[in-house]
Amino acid sequence: MLRTKLQSIANAFRDIVTLAYRRVDLQADIDRSSAELERLAQYSDVPAPAVKRVLFTEPDLAARKYLIGLFSNAGLKVRQDAVGNIFARWEGADSSLPPVATGSHTDAIPYSGKYDGTVGVLGGLEAIRALRKAGVKPRRSIELIMFTSEEPTRFAYGCLGSRLLSGQLKPERAAQLKDEQGETLEAARISAGCAGSLADVQLKQGAYSQFVELHIEQGPLLEQAGIPIGAVTAISAPAALRVRYQGPGGHAGGVYMADRHDPLLAASQLALEVEAAAKELGGQETVGTVGVLDVHPRAVNSIPRDVLLEIDVRDMDGPRRDRVLDRIRQSADRFGAERRVSATVEEINADPPVTCDERIIGAIEQAAAEARHKCQRMISRAYHDTTFMSLIAPVSMIFIPCRNGVSHHPDEYASPEAIKAGVEVLAGTLAKLAE
Ligand SMILES: [Zn+2]
Repeated sequence: MLRTKLQSIANAFRDIVTLAYRRVDLQADIDRSSAELERLAQYSDVPAPAVKRVLFTEPDLAARKYLIGLFSNAGLKVRQDAVGNIFARWEGADSSLPPVATGSHTDAIPYSGKYDGTVGVLGGLEAIRALRKAGVKPRRSIELIMFTSEEPTRFAYGCLGSRLLSGQLKPERAAQLKDEQGETLEAARISAGCAGSLADVQLKQGAYSQFVELHIEQGPLLEQAGIPIGAVTAISAPAALRVRYQGPGGHAGGVYMADRHDPLLAASQLALEVEAAAKELGGQETVGTVGVLDVHPRAVNSIPRDVLLEIDVRDMDGPRRDRVLDRIRQSADRFGAERRVSATVEEINADPPVTCDERIIGAIEQAAAEARHKCQRMISRAYHDTTFMSLIAPVSMIFIPCRNGVSHHPDEYASPEAIKAGVEVLAGTLAKLAE
């Protein structure tokens, strides 16, 4: 009796010792990370607390310099590719193995906040520092990536860096993308000092063993549930269409209603049709938005002549998303024909949904449990560089809550505690994947 009792105490003691040995104590220095986030936010074209950092503008170039300095000071090996993706590597014990990668973006749309993307870059850096401090010696190298232009602000094309890295965007097409001033990406990247050819940006399938991105949720679910960590299981499939209607215009007083061919009215019908198509053909995860509606010449006494819409459609189910897109395309042509205005429909992008890797999700959940943070599985309705990294490596994402789910807004806020939890779970996840 006593012997079995002693034996079970001994077993429990052994389990505790093993657990304590296996569980590395990962401590993120949140004061340092917060200070770095504040400093990064100062590289901006608009007054604080708003942030605007557009690809290869002064603030973006200054921010890049600052980040490269931080990466080098942390002892990481830094390189930059021809489109300005920045890679900072912590060499593992076996350099013949493909590294584990993490990272995000630091560009910011006009009048946005401090945390979108930046948490995944500076948080990734802090995760590597925490692993080092804890004495972790990874077998695989760990690479931190700062992706170029996740936001479509300058070249109307989101995730430029990760699209080129994964081969999703062809270098010839990328080179010819133009900004509003007519400057090409090729010219802009060269004047920003990015050496080499865009053709060399693409990485091979299997260049990384896994990729995991830390990001603010940009939605309210984690905050509402009081859960600090989200393990992302899937990313919604994004698509965008650009529709242009053109008519003869005319004086608002001079042309009878019966004689008009008003492109804005066709556009208005189409905006309602986007809503109807998403609701009638889709499910709860199907969303359709007209986010751009430009009217030319935009004068109160003039019938519009030229109207441009940009339409965003997303779904977790790729084929279902495509059925919604098809109906919008067909309706766009029909409304144009009915009103006898010319209609052109152009697909900006139509990317597939992402299914995240079960092994990475498991590692996130385990790392969260070890750091004593609750974790829930969730999907991402916003797309990220992870969407394109999934073309060359297994992926997942770690979400942390942001206040009221607000993002792309100066009020965007993630608390230091939330970021600390995210960094520690990222560190734990990277340690497991690099083992
Ligand atoms: Zn982002």
